[in-house]
Amino acid sequence: SPTIGVLALQGDVREHLAALEGLGCATLRVRRPAELAACDALVLPGGESTTMARLARTFELLEPLREAIADGLPVLGTCAGMILLAERVVDGAAGQETLGGIDMTVRRNAFGRQVDSFEGPVEMTGLDAPVHGVFIRAPWVEQVGPGVEVLARVHHGDAAGRIVAVREGHLMATSFHPEVGGDSRVHQLFVDLVRAV
Ligand code: GLN
Repeated sequence: SPTIGVLALQGDVREHLAALEGLGCATLRVRRPAELAACDALVLPGGESTTMARLARTFELLEPLREAIADGLPVLGTCAGMILLAERVVDGAAGQETLGGIDMTVRRNAFGRQVDSFEGPVEMTGLDAPVHGVFIRAPWVEQVGPGVEVLARVHHGDAAGRIVAVREGHLMATSFHPEVGGDSRVHQLFVDLVRAV
């Protein structure tokens, strides 16, 4: 089984490790370039994207992460992790850096104050029953390039129709948190992707 790393600078690292281990994957907390190099795939957890990017720079991981993505390392980004995989961010912090990789524009904290955090069913390509989507100050995907496959859209108030899960080649991202709630089908989709590439 593949060794899947979880970027462990900040955010909900533990929940991802548990989900992956539950699927029989070997896991690794990634804080240094050598740990990154030991992974067959990587998860960028939810948390705070600006903090994560800043810590990645401090830990001298920012460029190695960008190189790994460019070299084809499979990566799953959730919530803040989705923002990190975006080529473009709207409503980001001043000078907010990302790793990039997915040809998409994400809007940070997109759902606004009224529905700042919410939960609900999300139908996702590749799954026969909806996942329970947990959205916590989540981004949505505002625009995608031609190479990006839309995997899910949300059905929630004014946000109805917004893209909340995507895949481009070896990279996958969700606005919501598939690592909470004990349903590991999204992680399984990612593990299947890791095995396929
Ligand atoms: N709003 C956070 C950010 O901009 C993401 C929130 C999350 O990961 N739950 O990074």
